Amino acid sequence: VVQWPFSATQRRKLNWVQLAGHKGNFKAADEGTILKKFSENERQCFEKLRDGDDALLPFVPSYHGTVEKDGEFHLHMTDLLVNFDLPNVMDCKIGVRTYLEEELVRARERPKPREDLYNKMMEVDSEGPTSQEHSQRGVTKPRYMQWRETMSSTNTLGFRIEGIKKCDGTCRTDFKKTRSRQDVIQVFRDFVGENVNILKSYLSRLTEIRQALKASHFFRKHEVIGSSLLFIHDHTCKAQVWIIDFGKTTPMPEGQMLNHNVPWQEGNREDGYLWGLENLIHTLESVSRE
Ligand code: ATP
Ligand code: MG
Ligand code: MG
Repeated sequence: VVQWPFSATQRRKLNWVQLAGHKGNFKAADEGTILKKFSENERQCFEKLRDGDDALLPFVPSYHGTVEKDGEFHLHMTDLLVNFDLPNVMDCKIGVRTYLEEELVRARERPKPREDLYNKMMEVDSEGPTSQEHSQRGVTKPRYMQWRETMSSTNTLGFRIEGIKKCDGTCRTDFKKTRSRQDVIQVFRDFVGENVNILKSYLSRLTEIRQALKASHFFRKHEVIGSSLLFIHDHTCKAQVWIIDFGKTTPMPEGQMLNHNVPWQEGNREDGYLWGLENLIHTLESVSRE
């Protein structure tokens, strides 16, 4: 039983929320920090951002190196929720696709129909499978990967809502079919509780992030897939947006750069990150207007 006054540890445990990923992927660490399950790819991203003194650094959780705990390696970083009081949190995944080109290529190598993917498709939309897929009760992996992106706003807006936790404790991660602009606006409106000051803070933070992305050497040279913007606000009207999750952020070959705002065609590795961010900004602007 947790009793008032809360210790720092208790407060952190009460605040902590994880809107994506495996539940076992995160562990509490020293005051104000967390441990995320180690990935070599993500480690390299944090280190390149730090070593290059990149323009994105002010918008990324501080990185404190790798740590071994209970025989497993982790990335040690700042807990972004720690200075909030009963925060509202939203994870918004940016980009026009959430798989790497190399994952698509690999998925095509042995494209056998899978029943587990058929069932996953049926759970989201019973009209998803084609008549052939229905009769074989199977869906191939590349087909599933591409279909999934058409269900949410990933393909049409360049971002999708992954999950929301509100200060009253309610949590929603059932946004797999939230696709239309109007539906997305409604979710945002509900999230900010129509509070204009919070909206303004979020918009100015997003504008700063857009500017930083355009100045970032790191951003130019990476395909940014499956990364999220984490929105956090509380009743004091403190509102912040942070860039998280570099698990699938992959370097381009030496000398090659991405635009991040032109359409993806297989082979060009474009991720639509800037296009998605632009749409996200317009969406938030509509929340206060419409
Ligand atoms: P996935 O790839 O499925 O999105 P993941 O294992 O790569 O998951 P993240 O996306 O990095 O994990 O984080 C999952 C969730 O944990 C986020 O949605 C957010 O709620 C929370 N989270 C991650 N990093 C932080 C942080 N530094 N501070 C506070 N919360 C965080
Ligand atoms: Mg994530
Ligand atoms: Mg991830």
